[in-house]
Amino acid sequence: MTKKSLVLSFVAALGVATASAQAEDQQLNLYSARHYQTDEALYGEFTRQTGIKINRIEAKEDELLERIRNEGANSPADILITVDASRLARADELGLFAPIKSAVLEERIPPHLRTDTWIAFSTRARVLIYNKETVKPEQVQNYEDLADAALKGKVCSRSGSHPYNLSLGASLIKHNGADQTEQWARAVVANFARAPKGGDTDQIRSVAAGECGVAIANSYYFARLMNSDKPEDQRVVESVGYVWPNQDNRGTHINVSGAGILKHAPNKDAALKFLEYLASDQAQIYFANGNNEWPAVTGVAIENPALEKLGGFKVDTLPMTELAGAVPEAQRIFDRAGFR
Ligand code: FE
Repeated sequence: MTKKSLVLSFVAALGVATASAQAEDQQLNLYSARHYQTDEALYGEFTRQTGIKINRIEAKEDELLERIRNEGANSPADILITVDASRLARADELGLFAPIKSAVLEERIPPHLRTDTWIAFSTRARVLIYNKETVKPEQVQNYEDLADAALKGKVCSRSGSHPYNLSLGASLIKHNGADQTEQWARAVVANFARAPKGGDTDQIRSVAAGECGVAIANSYYFARLMNSDKPEDQRVVESVGYVWPNQDNRGTHINVSGAGILKHAPNKDAALKFLEYLASDQAQIYFANGNNEWPAVTGVAIENPALEKLGGFKVDTLPMTELAGAVPEAQRIFDRAGFR
């Protein structure tokens, strides 16, 4: 099959294009690990502004990477949107991305949130959630504090191999060095209330239930509980407190949702237009708000009651390129430390 017929059969199979698809139709094939309500408005507005139709392929993050790899030079994928710097870095390592050159993106997206091949469009913070009865906020002001022997039997986390924790580990390596990060990881493992299991929301619930004294979680999971009208979620929110870690020093570690243009993208011009569109004020609000995140572009007003209530904080502006580079070492350190 030719590349073009592959693309057409591919989109037809998904029911997103019909026989009326003509050669002159401008299209964009988006491989996305996102599926939020606000995405409809996000993509619809792009099509309205540019006339470029978006074909969306949604799958889990790691499956998308595998799929693009397997499709190779015949891949119809133009854009990959996914979460976490470590996954975006993995796609980059595999050579899946094309270089990005755009004056618009350079002007709109802060330097620490840009790399040569992928751009962050929203940010989330890795925060500490503590049980108000068993842990005092003064005990957990920094990620480093999780290694304090006073927290023995109180610390909870999802798996150390999860991208969110690998990115946090990478930031610790860049700030504190590999040796100190390994000591930290060993001490945190020694402080665990239980072996890592579940996702971040499970950790927050376990903190509320008293099984854990403090847990690491991404901010949007907490914001989601805050925005929930379920009484059981509101009870969880009431029994825990949150800390923006490392406010007196480098700032709180943030992670990102981001996107890149694929090396074999058949529609590279449309792909660049799409990335530039994502950096516009309105798209930034849709993109970030869909998952209770913050816009990457500074000065874009958020429209989210939970995020407004959480307030502002000092951000660790370690460049994403540096963070991404330390991810493989973070994995090796966590493996040795038994943080699995
Ligand atoms: Fe998540």
